[in-house]
Amino acid sequence: DYTPEVAADSMPILSEKQVDVAGIKPSSGVLYHQLRNEPLNIVGGRGSYLITEDGLEILDATCGAAVSCLGHSDERVHEAILDQLKKVPYCYSMFFTNSAAESLAKFLVDSTGGKMSRAYIVSSGTEAVEAAVKMAIQYFTELPVPEPQRVNIISRKSSYHGNTLGSLAVGHHASRRRIYESLLSKNIHHVPQCYPYRRMNANENNEEYVERLAQELEDEFQRLGPNTVCAFVAETMPGATLGCVPPLPGYLKALKAVCERHGALFILDEVMSGMGRTGTLHAWEQEDVVPDLQTIAKGLGAGYAPIAGLLINKHVVDTLNKGTGAFVHSQTYQGHPVACAAAYKVQQIIRDDNLLPNVRAMGEYLGQRLHERLDSHPHVGDIRGRGLFWAMEFVQDKETKEPYPPSKALSRTLHATGLKPENAISLMPGNGGIDGANGDHIILAPPYNTTREEIDLIVDRTVRVIQEILG
Ligand code: PMP
Repeated sequence: DYTPEVAADSMPILSEKQVDVAGIKPSSGVLYHQLRNEPLNIVGGRGSYLITEDGLEILDATCGAAVSCLGHSDERVHEAILDQLKKVPYCYSMFFTNSAAESLAKFLVDSTGGKMSRAYIVSSGTEAVEAAVKMAIQYFTELPVPEPQRVNIISRKSSYHGNTLGSLAVGHHASRRRIYESLLSKNIHHVPQCYPYRRMNANENNEEYVERLAQELEDEFQRLGPNTVCAFVAETMPGATLGCVPPLPGYLKALKAVCERHGALFILDEVMSGMGRTGTLHAWEQEDVVPDLQTIAKGLGAGYAPIAGLLINKHVVDTLNKGTGAFVHSQTYQGHPVACAAAYKVQQIIRDDNLLPNVRAMGEYLGQRLHERLDSHPHVGDIRGRGLFWAMEFVQDKETKEPYPPSKALSRTLHATGLKPENAISLMPGNGGIDGANGDHIILAPPYNTTREEIDLIVDRTVRVIQEILG
């Protein structure tokens, strides 16, 4: 799907006109992703709303990047953070552990029924992915009969796994990779995603398509030499680059079977799709697979603290324990007490307030409302999702599925239009169109405690924004 040449004009910066639409002001002291535009300044948050310095209340229909799953002002989390701050804000994980990190890790391990037996707690999804691939490499050097020849990693096209050099190489985000290609490992290879809307052949049914995808992975193992492959990495449900495509039944199971056949580790990246977003705490619970390594992040701390984790299957932990007994990796803010206390409280709230059934029920309602309102829209090609994680993919023509060119910056224009005071909704622009091969999309990812009334409002405003730009 991806070639650096096609990616050359991707990820356009918003044009002056689009900037005008959002009322975005020029110049800023903070360097974010975009140097030229200053985003709206958020000075407060209440429930599902973000409040700007001008007093505009913006409906945060995406929890930022699928992060703020409890909304913005849960006092129970504030208190937990303050309590931990007063006890001790920080201790160095090379020397000590701390109760907050231990409680969180125990909760996470228990939540997998003990299938994963340790949690490695870091500060961002990117770091969790980086730790996962390093641990996979280390695992093979510490087997009773070491296999250091397993140097290859296979992941998927149109995937996103983070922005440091290792995680960027694992992912396949065209425009973010392009100028750094020289630094990205050549031992990381990409197979096609499960993407029925565009990649399933007309004469194929679901089972046949899944079989073909598993065969493509098998072929890649054979091409590389099966005993040279260390791990396969996939988002359980892709978010940023492909937009909420639920895995077809049996797909992840079939891919895991390929990995098992060849002794490679199966890594699921649940940075975005995990911790309840798709309706179960771990998205893999719905797929009848258990990963060897699993990354988690956004819903873990709900944005109250920067926190992410790597959950490690018991057999990997046992191997490292019998080997050197240490993971050759360490970061200063690992197991940070305040971040862990925040995340532990967030997880208790998700459990005690019984939010996962609400994610499933409201998710179903959101999907139903989107279909009702947008199925007949001439430029909405596909509506798909699971739990409270939904995407709409846009096309110029529904018959041919012709995508909009990256230069149109469609999803970013929709985002900017949503921020106009009369719309006051934050939509997540996707990167589906970045390589010009897929359609551009937007994502909705409301908080887990959302209500039917709020879903109605989200859908009304989303439809209004789409109609404003696409008619
Ligand atoms: N993996 C996946 C699947 C993601 O969606 C993201 C972020 N969107 C990352 C990794 C990177 O996480 P972070 O931005 O926290 O570094």
